[in-house]
Amino acid sequence: MSAVRVAIAGSSGSIGTQTLEVIRAEAGAYEVVALAVGSSADTVIAQAREVRPEVVVVTDPDRRREVADALPGIDVTDDLTALIGPADVVVNGVVGFAGLPVTVATLAAGKRLALANKESLIAAGPVVQPLRATPGAELVPVDSEHCAVHQCLRSSVDQGREVARVVLTASGGPFRGRSAADLATVTVDEALAHPTWSMGPKISVDSSTLMNKGLEVIEAHELFGTPYDRIEVVVHPQSIVHSMVEFTDGSTIAQLSLPDMRLPIGYALGHPHRISTSFGRIDWAQLSRLDFEPPDTATFRCLTLAYEAGRTGGSAPAWLSAANEVAVDAFLLGRIRWNQIPDVCVGTLQVHDGAVPTTIEEVIAADADARSAAERVLEELPT
Ligand code: MG
Repeated sequence: MSAVRVAIAGSSGSIGTQTLEVIRAEAGAYEVVALAVGSSADTVIAQAREVRPEVVVVTDPDRRREVADALPGIDVTDDLTALIGPADVVVNGVVGFAGLPVTVATLAAGKRLALANKESLIAAGPVVQPLRATPGAELVPVDSEHCAVHQCLRSSVDQGREVARVVLTASGGPFRGRSAADLATVTVDEALAHPTWSMGPKISVDSSTLMNKGLEVIEAHELFGTPYDRIEVVVHPQSIVHSMVEFTDGSTIAQLSLPDMRLPIGYALGHPHRISTSFGRIDWAQLSRLDFEPPDTATFRCLTLAYEAGRTGGSAPAWLSAANEVAVDAFLLGRIRWNQIPDVCVGTLQVHDGAVPTTIEEVIAADADARSAAERVLEELPT
């Protein structure tokens, strides 16, 4: 069998580097044909010298030249969609809304999309959904919860009729069990210290606010077509049960594994087969308990905000996701406090225009409008 040709968008980030670890472990099964980064020139040069891709994308024009000079014989471009051509599977590990062109172009090209970039699906659902019908196109989630649901759903032959509930698990993040008053003064380092998962800064902050789980509720609705009143969130601090599906007969199927993103990455690369490498096994003699509790939505307001935006539909999820990106950036830069992240999202959604985007240009415009609105909200926040 010839090697599966893989393109990695966001190759310098947490998902990108772990994708390369999976590919190294599955020696010979995969060939990296394209890498894409924003501005991480040194990292992508080192990666390209190892895997010798056909194409390297550097979207930052100031860094592209230096990468091109370091990699003679490799096509170095600033066009993000250039990485799709040579690939069978595209891993989208870009952070935030910037991942949208990769999602759209991969599905439109009729290829498999291993999607770690949830923001593109959340912001552009009405535009992305029809592209999933492109012949050959396939969307396999790399988000651990959705990878779990994807696996659980394989135990049903009539998902439209048989799924009663999708239950997404949440670790609860670093601030689980703490009160709103207690969280008013948390630092960036505290927000980035996730108890169970190793992830990049944006998603780590989102996990600390539960916005990540909220966005995952919208993502589950978009991926699996599950109505919002059948998607529930339960806090499970051990991060061993990665999500569950309850069926109409009362059976619940869950997926369990150690918390390691290399499993969902390998699942998406290998689908419908399983890869041969295991990145750790559960020690049942040591795992004495699995705990579950309801989320504290009074303290972690972002979860409720996401349900509201999802139910509103149209461009509301795009506005929420954009407002959150602006707020998280502001928090990471020390411009706002952690507990002001939901305030920025609430204030931005208050001026949401109710539009329903039908084209990629309208999605991009909605994102830009939401960012401007969020910036105005930021400037008016009490210090
Ligand atoms: Mg997740």
